[in-house]
Amino acid sequence: MASANTNKLQVAICGAGIGGLTFALALSRFPDIDINIYEGARALTEVGAGIGIFPRPWKIIKMLGLEADLLKVTETKVVNGPVSVFQYRKSDQHEGIEFYTLVTEGSLILFHRADYQQTLLNHLPKRCQTHCSKRLRSYVQRQSGPIELLFEDGTTALCDVLVGADGLKSVVRAGVLGEKAQRSRSEGRWQEAADILKHVEPVWSGTNAYRALIPVQKLRTIAPNHRILNTPGVQYLGKQGYIIAYRISGGQLINFVAFVIQHKLENTKFNGPWMSTVEPSAFSTSFAHWEPDVQALIACVEKPMQWAIHTVRPMQSFVSGRVALLGDAAHSMTPHQGSGAGQALEDACILATVLGHPSTNRSNVAHRALRVYDNIRCPFAYKVMQVSRANGRHLTLELDEGVPVDLDSLPPKQQWDYLQRLGNTVVKNWEWAWTTSIDTSLKEALHMLESQV
Ligand SMILES: Cc1cc2nc3c(=O)[nH]c(=O)nc-3n(C[C@H](O)[C@H](O)[C@H](O)COP(=O)(O)OP(=O)(O)OC[C@H]3O[C@@H](n4cnc5c(N)ncnc54)[C@H](O)[C@@H]3O)c2cc1C
Repeated sequence: MASANTNKLQVAICGAGIGGLTFALALSRFPDIDINIYEGARALTEVGAGIGIFPRPWKIIKMLGLEADLLKVTETKVVNGPVSVFQYRKSDQHEGIEFYTLVTEGSLILFHRADYQQTLLNHLPKRCQTHCSKRLRSYVQRQSGPIELLFEDGTTALCDVLVGADGLKSVVRAGVLGEKAQRSRSEGRWQEAADILKHVEPVWSGTNAYRALIPVQKLRTIAPNHRILNTPGVQYLGKQGYIIAYRISGGQLINFVAFVIQHKLENTKFNGPWMSTVEPSAFSTSFAHWEPDVQALIACVEKPMQWAIHTVRPMQSFVSGRVALLGDAAHSMTPHQGSGAGQALEDACILATVLGHPSTNRSNVAHRALRVYDNIRCPFAYKVMQVSRANGRHLTLELDEGVPVDLDSLPPKQQWDYLQRLGNTVVKNWEWAWTTSIDTSLKEALHMLESQV
C-alpha cells in the first residue's frame, strides 16, 4: 500500500469512473505528484450506454491529448461552426410534429462509454497505479500528518490529498460532510450541522431512465425509413417524459434512453433498486400512444436497464481540509443537459491544474489550491445542476415550472408558437455548453492562486 513519506505530494483518488480516470490523467502531467487510484470494483468496466461531450468539456479532451484517439471511435462528424445536434419532436400523439432543431456552435461528440473509458486507460501512464477491489470504507484526517484511508478489506493506505471521485453514493462525501458538521457542532451551530448532513444521502429526481443499445440493423429491418438512421440525434418529447436516440460505435448501435418523469415526486425516496434490468413493458406503457417512430424504437429494445435518477442536493463546498470531491460525488445532477460527465471533466482539469501548480505543497494545499478549486467549481457546477433540472421541465413540454399547458387543446398556431418559445428557452438555457470556454475558468483559477501569497 502507498505511504506518504516521500517528498512528492501523494494524491489518492477514490473511484476510477470517468471523473477519477480523467483527473488521474490530468494530474499525471505533473511529475512531482504520486498518484494512486483506488477502485471498489474488481475490474474497470463502464455501463453499456452512450455519452455525449459538448464543445466546452471537449476542449479538456484536447488538452489531455485524447482527441485523435477518441475521434476514431465516434460516429460524430466533428464540425467547428454551427451544427444541428438534435431534432425536437412533439411525439405524444398519433402523428408527431417536428418543431425545432438544436443548433450548437461545435459538435456534441457522441461515444460508447466503454470506448471513452478504454481511451482514457490507454493514455494513463504506468506511474498512475490503479488498485481494484479497494472499496474505501472511511478516512481519518487530522490537523497535520497524512490522511489515513481504511478499506473494506481491512487494509489501509496513506496520502496527503484525498480526492473523492466515488460517484453518487460517495463515501468520501459522507466523510467531508461529517467533518463539516462536526466543525459546526463544535461552534454551537446545531441547525447548520443538521442541514449539512442532509446532503449525504442522494434524493430521487422523480425520473426513471430506461437505457438500451439497439443494433442499427435491427431497426433498419423493421423501419427502413426511420429518421434515426439519417439524423444525428432526435429527442421525442411529451408531457410524461421524453426519449433520446442517437447513433454510436461507428454507426452500428443506437443509444436509446427513455425518461419517465413525475416532477411532483422530485426529492422523494425511491422504493426499489436504483439500477436493475427490467422488461420493456416497465416503460413502454408510458409511451403507448406516441408516434410510430417511437413505437419502432421501443419494439427493438430488449432487457433495458432501469436507472432511478438520483441527485445530490446542491452543496456549498466540495472541500474539507485536504479532501476534495469531484464528479458525481460532488454534484450528481439530472442528465437532462447531458453534462454530468462534462462537469466531472471540468473538475478534473481545474483540480489537477491547481494541485500541479509549482507553488502548491503539502502544507499550503488545503488553504490555497483546494480553496481555489472549491471557489471556481462549486458555483459553476451548481448552476449546471439548476439548468439541467430546468431542462427536464422543458423537455416535458413545460415552459414555466409548475405551469402545465394543455397543448393538445390549443389552436395549431398557438401550439406552434408555444413550441417555438420552448425550443428557444432550451437553447438559451443550454448554450453555456458551447458558447463559453473552460479557458475562462482556468485563467480565473490561476489568477486566484497566483494572487495569494
Ligand atoms: C441516463 C444518463 C445519461 C447521461 N448522459 C450523459 C451525457 O451524455 N453526457 C455527460 O456529460 N454526462 C451524462 N450523464 C452523467 C454521467 O454519466 C455522470 O455524471 C458520470 O458518469 C459521473 O462520473 P464519475 O466518475 O463522477 O462517477 P461514476 O461513473 O459513478 O464513478 C464512480 C466510481 O467510483 C467507484 N466507487 C464507488 N464507491 C467507491 C468506494 N467506496 N471505494 C472505491 N471506489 C468506489 C465506482 O465503482 C465507480 O467506478 C448521464 C447520466 C445518466 C444517468
